[in-house]
Amino acid sequence: MRLILLGPPGAGKGTQASGIIEKYQIPHISTGDIFRKNIKEGTELGKKAKGYMDQGLLVPDELVVAIVEDRLKEDDCKDGFLLDGFPRTEKQAEALDESLSKMGVSMDKVINVSVDKNVLVERAVGRRICKDCGATYHIKFNPSTKDGVCDKCGGALYQRADDNEETVTKRIEVYLNETQPLIDYYKARNILVTIDGEQDIHKVFEDIVAALGA
Ligand SMILES: [Zn+2]
Repeated sequence: MRLILLGPPGAGKGTQASGIIEKYQIPHISTGDIFRKNIKEGTELGKKAKGYMDQGLLVPDELVVAIVEDRLKEDDCKDGFLLDGFPRTEKQAEALDESLSKMGVSMDKVINVSVDKNVLVERAVGRRICKDCGATYHIKFNPSTKDGVCDKCGGALYQRADDNEETVTKRIEVYLNETQPLIDYYKARNILVTIDGEQDIHKVFEDIVAALGA
């Protein structure tokens, strides 16, 4: 099963990714992780990527694709994988399809976890985090027993500075604008499945499994 997981920040993608890789026994390929690994191990590609990042530049598409392609050639990916955080643009999607076709395989499904913008904003703005143990709460959906105090360790709860309405709205709008061409690209290839991410997380997972047909 070769899969891509798409979804805006706050759609609960992390939880769904864990469920998917466990159920289908496929590796979770997060671009962030493989970048860090290449840089840490000082591979050729890692060194090139670091050069751009040190200058505060975006890593060019060709390099991102090369790093992902390298990872997908590893043995644990031969029966499938879950891509997360890549592709981000239509150009990357085309390059990915090209790499896969050279490897004699193709993408099976692209899972798009969809959540209304206003819901995402509400989820992020109400988030509270424990200063001491990192536990997360939500003032409406998952409140701590005592206001502002962690249930697990008694630590103080705080709100991340970038979880304010303006920043969150901006973050989501940027994501949605960037991703739309990607969604159209996979829709045209008949491999896009859209999942209602506003449901209970267990139901979201059930729907994903049903859509994958296995
Ligand atoms: Zn705590």
